[in-house]
Amino acid sequence: MTWETVIGLEIHAHLKTRTKMFCRCETGFGEEPNTRTCPVCLAHPGTLPVPNRTAVEWTIKLGLALGCEIAPRAVFHRKNYFYPDLPKGYQISQYDEPLCVDGRFTVTGEDGDLEVGIVRAHLEEDAAKTVHLEGAGGRIVGATRSLVDFNRGGTPLVEIVTQPDLRSAEEARRFLQLLRQTIVELGISDAEMEKGTLRCDANVSVRKVGEEGYRTRWELKNMNSFSYIVRGIDAAVRAQIALHEAGAPVEQDTYDYDADADSLTVHRSKEEAEDYRYFPEPDLVPVEPEPKLVERLRGEVPELPGARIQRYAYELGVNDAWALVMTDRESDFSELVRASVPPRSAFNFVMNQQIPSGANLGELARIATATDLTRTGLQAAVAASANPGFSADDYLEEKTVSDAAELEPLIDRILAANPGQVAAYRGGKEGLLGFFVGQAMKETGGKANPKVLNELIREKLKA
Ligand SMILES: [Zn+2]
Repeated sequence: MTWETVIGLEIHAHLKTRTKMFCRCETGFGEEPNTRTCPVCLAHPGTLPVPNRTAVEWTIKLGLALGCEIAPRAVFHRKNYFYPDLPKGYQISQYDEPLCVDGRFTVTGEDGDLEVGIVRAHLEEDAAKTVHLEGAGGRIVGATRSLVDFNRGGTPLVEIVTQPDLRSAEEARRFLQLLRQTIVELGISDAEMEKGTLRCDANVSVRKVGEEGYRTRWELKNMNSFSYIVRGIDAAVRAQIALHEAGAPVEQDTYDYDADADSLTVHRSKEEAEDYRYFPEPDLVPVEPEPKLVERLRGEVPELPGARIQRYAYELGVNDAWALVMTDRESDFSELVRASVPPRSAFNFVMNQQIPSGANLGELARIATATDLTRTGLQAAVAASANPGFSADDYLEEKTVSDAAELEPLIDRILAANPGQVAAYRGGKEGLLGFFVGQAMKETGGKANPKVLNELIREKLKA
């Protein structure tokens, strides 16, 4: 019997607005505790929330990037629960009328495109942060004191909920990576897991392949890196399969993943939605984004990383397209391609070479192309662009073997050893020049001057 994994994700991202969601306190990471507070975010009686317009606009922008519909009317609700880090006794969130609904997010993979349904993306405020002292690993168990830092309380937070469309921990990782890149490029969040500005919970269950419907799921929380998410999901899948195969019940529960022990521990029993006693926040009017505003924001969404991966994949293959988009080398790559460097060469160039900042990439591309984009030629181009008054030819002169008397015997040997290729070249397959250059480069350990080498080989093949 083969088991299939079913994963849905809930992602929270801090918006990097200058001020908090419902007051004018500045947001900030790593400030002195309790220095970013005011009567509103400390829930003093009689204070009233005022929504942050930028946070609303950025959430709409994110919704558009996720292919969502933007609701003509969204309502803030109170989500009631009592925690020391929630001074109002409720969190202002969105419930049955969120801002963004019903999206699709495409993740290009080696085996084709993965379409992940987006149930919703909504706006809420974050809770403050409780720090437990003297307990094991900062946990409440065994702690002697707990302190609350209200700086984080009221930070705008978007929550994104996916359909259970992911079928492996690896798919979940890819989805998250692309989602994170999208959020970062929209300029709305730093989305850094290690700082807690991006958090992810996973709903995990298993079922037999071909089975309809879903079995009981576990919610995994507090996984604060991409690799922990993968390992946490894998641990849950293993444990659930073992339970099912032993005929034991799988209870719906929430777990924390302990990366050190590679194990799951029960977090707390899952509250049902009713437990929160949601009701519309009476102190706020509904958010009703004008179509004109939505269209303006749509116009501000740039070409997204997912679309660029699809575009580059034609030339580079899926994996290299991913690698390119996830680095900061992409603009250099694009500039080289605009200067007529073939995409594959441009990719190898930007991923392998340290391009000095401020380098004239157009000039670099010209030199690199003139030296046939061999590794040595590229190094020459980079060296030249790093040193004003120093040309690629100077570099080649200094660092490579340019002496024809030294190179000719080597070339003769290579031509003699490859009579078939020589005949094919003379018969019109001139693309084989690269093959001979490559052989010579290999034999010289990349030390031959590519320009001289090219000329000599071309000359000899004429004969
Ligand atoms: Zn405040």
